Amino acid sequence: MMTTEAELNLSASIGLANYPMHGDTIDEVLQNADAAMYQAKTTGKGRVYLYQHGLLESMKERVSMVADLRRSINHGGLDFYVQGKFSVDGILRGGELLCRWRSSISGTVAPAVFIPLAETHQLDKNIGILALEAACDYISMMETQGMLIPLSVNVSANQILDKNFAQLAKKICAANNISPHLIELELTESIFIRDHKNALRSLNALRTAGFRLALDDFGSGFSSLSYLRSFNFEVVKLDRSLITDIHTDNKALSLFQGIVAMLHSLQLDVVAEGVEHPEYLPLLKEANVSQVQGFYYEQPMPYDQFIQKHQKR
Ligand code: C2E
Ligand code: CA
Ligand code: CA
Repeated sequence: MMTTEAELNLSASIGLANYPMHGDTIDEVLQNADAAMYQAKTTGKGRVYLYQHGLLESMKERVSMVADLRRSINHGGLDFYVQGKFSVDGILRGGELLCRWRSSISGTVAPAVFIPLAETHQLDKNIGILALEAACDYISMMETQGMLIPLSVNVSANQILDKNFAQLAKKICAANNISPHLIELELTESIFIRDHKNALRSLNALRTAGFRLALDDFGSGFSSLSYLRSFNFEVVKLDRSLITDIHTDNKALSLFQGIVAMLHSLQLDVVAEGVEHPEYLPLLKEANVSQVQGFYYEQPMPYDQFIQKHQKR
């Protein structure tokens, strides 16, 4: 008889709770130690975590928030606001869909809170599908209202790396009679960090399907230039931090001008986001950025308001 030998590596996540500091009864102390163990697991595994007051309550809150988010996703409880993208002179060129969630339990929850939560609990792909459907819906409504602009949708790394996504995205556009050329997918460098080979495969499939691809948040995070070499994006969106203070800080201005010149030499369209002050405009114009987006131009707003505002013009 053959025996197979395999080497197993074990690791443990440990949660600690003390009596009487973390509970009056054995059950309470154990329950808190359990919560600390889950915290050790979610903050990187192979760790020891000491229970801290409020941990169990915040975990319960998180669990109920996830359940609430799942319900909202399944029952049309998410909304997609639109923020315009403009030429520096203020002519509307496109729009970005931004997800909004008003929870029945927690009230308005910021995307910075619920998007990462959705990612940890594998709900982000559902949000991506809803966003694409909303984009198709808005584009067909705009078409009938005599105003047609391309719309951008944010797509999570999980979704981009899903090998069926390109096919699915194409299907959603076809079902709504919308050309993928009218939809720009905004993604971040995290897809390359997660899985470089699959990222390229997925991006090529999306490109072949006709979608425009934008690298979002450039200038935050690592912003490795090798990503720009390995894939030809159509658009790079400069993070707000890259334009902050360019009108008062020479170092910030040099960095901004150098990066825009480099992106232009790669034939990329450059979009500056987070434009809050008119002082930036002459510098953005001089650097020849294609589009600008930010509170100076407008806040994200519900579709109806967006169409009403821009149709008037
Ligand atoms: P993002 O894709 O970089 O979107 C731009 C964010 O900056 C939005 O925040 C927008 O409201 C905000 N913003 C726009 N102009 C200005 C400005 O002039 N100043 C400042 N300070 N902020 C400005 P929001 O809507 O809170 O979204 C935050 C992030 O959540 C987004 O960053 C994106 O990463 C994510 N997100 C939003 N909607 C979706 C979605 O449908 N799917 C996915 N996967 N992520 C989304
Ligand atoms: Ca974005
Ligand atoms: Ca961004």
